Amino acid sequence: MNGKGSIKLQGNKETVFTSLLDPDVLRNCIMGCKELIQQEENVYKVDLSVGVAAVKGKYDATMRLADVSVPESYKLIVHGEGGPGFVDAEAEIHLVDVDDSKTELTYTYEAQVGGKVAAIGQRMLGGVAKLIINDFFKKIKKRVGENECLGRRTSLMKPAVFSYLCPSTLEETIDMLTEYGDEGKIIAGGQSFVPILNMRMSEPEYLIDIHQLEELRGIRLEGESVKIGALTTQRELEKNTLIMECFPVLKEAVRFIGHVQTRNRGTVGGSLAHADPSAELPLSFLALNAEIIVQSTSDERIADINEFFLTYLTTDMMPDEILTEIQVPLNQPKGYAFEEFSRRHGDFALVSVVCLLSTDEAGKIESVRLALGGN
Ligand SMILES: Cc1cc2nc3c(=O)[nH]c(=O)nc-3n(C[C@H](O)[C@H](O)[C@H](O)COP(=O)(O)OP(=O)(O)OC[C@H]3O[C@@H](n4cnc5c(N)ncnc54)[C@H](O)[C@@H]3O)c2cc1C
Repeated sequence: MNGKGSIKLQGNKETVFTSLLDPDVLRNCIMGCKELIQQEENVYKVDLSVGVAAVKGKYDATMRLADVSVPESYKLIVHGEGGPGFVDAEAEIHLVDVDDSKTELTYTYEAQVGGKVAAIGQRMLGGVAKLIINDFFKKIKKRVGENECLGRRTSLMKPAVFSYLCPSTLEETIDMLTEYGDEGKIIAGGQSFVPILNMRMSEPEYLIDIHQLEELRGIRLEGESVKIGALTTQRELEKNTLIMECFPVLKEAVRFIGHVQTRNRGTVGGSLAHADPSAELPLSFLALNAEIIVQSTSDERIADINEFFLTYLTTDMMPDEILTEIQVPLNQPKGYAFEEFSRRHGDFALVSVVCLLSTDEAGKIESVRLALGGN
């Protein structure tokens, strides 16, 4: 029985290598590993209890690391004996830098089994071996991500355990979203998502912090619209002269959002992606007929804002997509108003309304756009 494969892991070669040889990591990542005791340098005694398909039973195994070349490669040699028979396996592991923060691990292995377990057939055993190896690397991937993360820890934190990732480019972020799908969640300003994490209403495996993506910041005039980067803060929006000039209704709306402190961190893209029906920005951009730019590996699309908000805290974005920009057409009605009622200033609106209105020269109403929000 033999096989090979490769996997990309978060972290540079040194970090990954250290994790791979860490007995604590191995104990937690080897399927059915009950105990792993170091006997001498690079030799461990392992108690395994494997229960996959017909391969059930306990093995007393010895695991030896050979030809260790830090941080490039090593051999893993396993001999195990137990009720179901014996296993002899040898694997070669190589690490190559993909970039500063990613490593590619490639492996090849060969294994022989004997005794009762051999009777279940090579095809079945091949499948079981694959399953055990895939499980090992899935767990390793998670552990390496954990070691990469700064300040991550378990029971002392209010949120459930997650691995913290901090990409520095949009491309890297999209790769992570593609790779982790449902298991990864973006964090931008954190003003809505941190409370959600703390209340454990969301328990992502990977938290993808996008605050370093400079390309998603800023407000600029381009053609017939103003483009607002998703990471632009609510405070930047409030203070921006172009916004004041072209869309004064936004300035009216933003001052109702929380407090200066929350607006300093909360982002425009985060507000839209969060899709809280009582939030001021989704409502305002809806009235302004803005376009929302959403990106994934395969596509950059313009989401129709009229169909973007599906229901409470839900948009039409897929887990592998990121909101990158909001484009607001310059041609807007001249009349505007934003009003809301909340129990105290800074609280979420119980009810809010935005109105954009244009009149002809005689003062007769030509068009009205009204959007309603609230709890
Ligand atoms: C005390 C307090 C009072 C507040 N009061 C108000 C208020 O009155 N009105 C109001 O509107 N808001 C209020 N907020 C929420 C605040 O406006 C948030 O900043 C905003 O809702 C989310 O923006 P964020 O950047 O903080 O997003 P985060 O909290 O980081 O993320 C929110 C959600 O959006 C997703 N997300 C973020 N960015 C992107 C992106 N670019 N692409 C895809 N998904 C993304 C995240 O995965 C998460 O699901 C308040 C917050 C606090 C703490």
